Amino acid sequence: CGIVGVLGDHEAAPILVQALARLEYRGYDSAGIATVSGGQLDRRRAVGKLVNLSDLLVHEPLSGKAGIGHTRWATHGAPTVINAHPHCAGRVAVVHNGIIENFRALREELSACGAGFESDTDTETVAHLAQAYLDEGMTPQQAAEATLKRLEGAFALLFLFEGEEDLMIAARKGSPLAIGWGEGEMFVGSDAIALAPMTNRITYLDEGDRATITRAGAEIHDAAGHLVNRPVKTVEIDL
Ligand code: GLU
Repeated sequence: CGIVGVLGDHEAAPILVQALARLEYRGYDSAGIATVSGGQLDRRRAVGKLVNLSDLLVHEPLSGKAGIGHTRWATHGAPTVINAHPHCAGRVAVVHNGIIENFRALREELSACGAGFESDTDTETVAHLAQAYLDEGMTPQQAAEATLKRLEGAFALLFLFEGEEDLMIAARKGSPLAIGWGEGEMFVGSDAIALAPMTNRITYLDEGDRATITRAGAEIHDAAGHLVNRPVKTVEIDL
């Protein structure tokens, strides 16, 4: 039950795994990462300890400097590889903490439109919904925004898109999320502890906030859609 993300200068996979390791204290049953590289989304997922994901990455490396990662504490669907995050649909990859309360209705709606679901999670609905909005011609930002408007429940979400190596979209509604500021690099984590090796300059999202993140920085809108300025705090955390 942790989320991490990086738009970096270096290979993302080791950074993501290291950041996830710093969230291990929260508990989890499976873990996974996705990156976008050469425009393509790809992911690796493993059940059990993070070392299983690390081992998988040794045999099946994942390149790319933009990526998202997740440690899962299953609420909907057994702790299996198929149910592990990131969840993907079309051009969208998403990691999620919390619960999408209205996922059954959304899943029925999306299935009726031809979406093929592979997992039992509430989360996969989010990926399919965002892809459906992309199919309507929306930009990734518009699609994420339209998706968030449809979701009920308490959650933190982080989106990554195929063909977009300088974009992550984060949203906080009931689960904390922090943005980390590097030098030409940006990070996302469930808390500042996850990001401590990379940066101690942190912006905490407020309830209802969504952030469009590029390597140049983060643009944050509040629940009402207003562009807002959240402070960048310097946090002291022992490594
Ligand atoms: N509800 C999601 C799932 O079961 C997310 C669980 C979590 O917070 O890790 O996959």
